[in-house]
Amino acid sequence: MEVEFSVSGLGKSRSYFVHPTAIVEEGAEIGEGTRIWHFAHVRTGAKIGRNCNIGKGVYIDVGVEIGDRVKIQNFVSVYRGVKVEDDVFLGPHATLTNDLYPRSFNEDWEVVPTLIKRGASIGANATIVCGVTIGEYAMVGAGAVVTKDVPPHALVYGNPARVRGFVCYCGRPLDLSKPVKEDEEAVTFRCGHCGKEVRIPRKHLALLER
Ligand SMILES: [Zn+2]
Repeated sequence: MEVEFSVSGLGKSRSYFVHPTAIVEEGAEIGEGTRIWHFAHVRTGAKIGRNCNIGKGVYIDVGVEIGDRVKIQNFVSVYRGVKVEDDVFLGPHATLTNDLYPRSFNEDWEVVPTLIKRGASIGANATIVCGVTIGEYAMVGAGAVVTKDVPPHALVYGNPARVRGFVCYCGRPLDLSKPVKEDEEAVTFRCGHCGKEVRIPRKHLALLER
């Protein structure tokens, strides 16, 4: 979809789309090809990469950094302290926090950072309690409550979320009963869907709970 818009008076065109009902504050940076939909609000100092899709009612707080090709579904609020790398998917109504000791009357609260690494997906309505890192290509199930770090490629769900399996780059679960390679440090599995091989460190496999 072609999204070229002229900003009148500035004498230059911008190459991203902002729906007329969305608010993008001055000082926000938006990458080429990104689309920002109805009633979204992007605060000053926020940096959104290229070819992202920012859904209806999404809130991107002051100074938040979002990578390239990120999809943020309707009504997700990404608060200050959260960093989102390339190719991340945030499902509808996923919740990200930034305060471990919330009190309406505390004036000395500190932002607790959360990092969502490349390729990770957060399911609909999941809650990510701040201070954690979601590893590369991890998959957080719908409605999960994540309270600790999630290893790369791990599938976690439940409350509190636990490691229930491992997934491929394509998101499909790996059959852990059929390793294709093993060494001291890691075991490699082949995805039954796309055929890619995924190497999972033994220390992460040890976190598996069934
Ligand atoms: Zn795959």
